[in-house]
Amino acid sequence: MSVQPPTVAVVGVGTMGALAFWQLAERGIRVIGYESRTPAHPASAGAGGSRMFREVTTDGAALDVQTGHARALWERLAARSGDDLIVPTGALSVGSSDSALVRGSIASAERRGVPHQILSPAEIEARFPLRAHTDGEVGVYEPGAATIRSDAAVIAAARLGVAAGGELRTHTAVTAIESRGSGVRVHSLTAGDARADDVDAVIVSAGTGTAGVIPGAGRWVEPRHTATHVWFPIEDETLLVPGRLPATVRDLGGGDRFGAMPALDGRNLKIGAHRHTAPDAMTAAELEADGIDAATELVRAHFDGVVPFPVAARSYTESYALAGSAVVDWIDGPDSRQVVMAGFSGIGFKRAPALAAHAVAMVLGETADPPNGHAWADAPHIR
Ligand SMILES: Cc1cc2nc3c(=O)[nH]c(=O)nc-3n(C[C@H](O)[C@H](O)[C@H](O)COP(=O)(O)OP(=O)(O)OC[C@H]3O[C@@H](n4cnc5c(N)ncnc54)[C@H](O)[C@@H]3O)c2cc1C
Repeated sequence: MSVQPPTVAVVGVGTMGALAFWQLAERGIRVIGYESRTPAHPASAGAGGSRMFREVTTDGAALDVQTGHARALWERLAARSGDDLIVPTGALSVGSSDSALVRGSIASAERRGVPHQILSPAEIEARFPLRAHTDGEVGVYEPGAATIRSDAAVIAAARLGVAAGGELRTHTAVTAIESRGSGVRVHSLTAGDARADDVDAVIVSAGTGTAGVIPGAGRWVEPRHTATHVWFPIEDETLLVPGRLPATVRDLGGGDRFGAMPALDGRNLKIGAHRHTAPDAMTAAELEADGIDAATELVRAHFDGVVPFPVAARSYTESYALAGSAVVDWIDGPDSRQVVMAGFSGIGFKRAPALAAHAVAMVLGETADPPNGHAWADAPHIR
């Protein structure tokens, strides 16, 4: 008797979902991807052209190991798609020598043998357009870090998933999932037409839409306005030479940080002005105005060779984990074969392929032990 491979539904084909969809299809698993809009649509959490891939992390040993795995999978996606997805910009983390950013980055680099250089304020100013501020600041530069073309990467994964036989239903919103015997029934709506499909397992990767699919998802995650990305023209063309404009995180003290990265459009620097508020605390227009002002101030104060007049801005909402670490968990115990991926809290993109691989292994019944021999002690909601 032959054993039929399972059919897996992926609910939400955004960052995490597209990578799970691709990996399942490539393994010959029958997969249906449901996406309420289209992969990498402008309001999704991975949109806006670019995301930093710092090799070092400050999120603990287990997630640190996942970062190395993720890099290998991103490279595989780039090779398979033939797209220029990973731009070797390097990355720079700057803060006082006793800040969590600097101490954590050095510890992570040493733990995993990530090549890095410790730079003084004068060395930072000599190499990069970042102004040095205080003598106590230290830079941790990772020459091997990158900036990923985020929308292009999500689209590449979705496209390769379809090419490998995955079925992608765009403009199709899942309204509910329901346990049926040993399987799952997925209810969806496409242009007003309701439909129900019976599958063997499901991965819910619906980002800020998670609570609309899983009643009670508020025990893990909440949506938050998180950041406004603001684009500023690069005036000094030498900054466009590789290695001159790394993906940068600067700790300003008192819990404040900002991120900056090349927009990868050959013209602009993109600043992430972070403000974490409940979605109804500010209107989108208020959030954007606030972010533009904050980002303009950051460019004036910190950068040379960049014009402090914004040319574009966009604000986003993302799902945040209440327990402070990402959620890749059973929705209702392992027997349900229903996995939720959510709560990536502004740091999920770079690890997305590794987290998706973990969710895929879970629904296929492959994860008996924590990966890489690491208990997920510092990530209590990753099974
Ligand atoms: C501004 C900003 C900057 C960031 N910078 C970085 C960075 O530099 N480096 C980094 O590593 N990470 C970064 N992150 C984090 C990273 O981008 C996110 O963690 C990641 O994109 C989240 O992916 P997701 O799949 O959970 O959400 P999404 O990519 O939003 O995907 C969810 C998808 O589900 C769909 N959906 C929702 N409800 C339904 C439904 N009912 N039925 C069907 N489909 C549905 C949505 O349309 C969407 O396409 C940043 C995030 C933001 C917002």
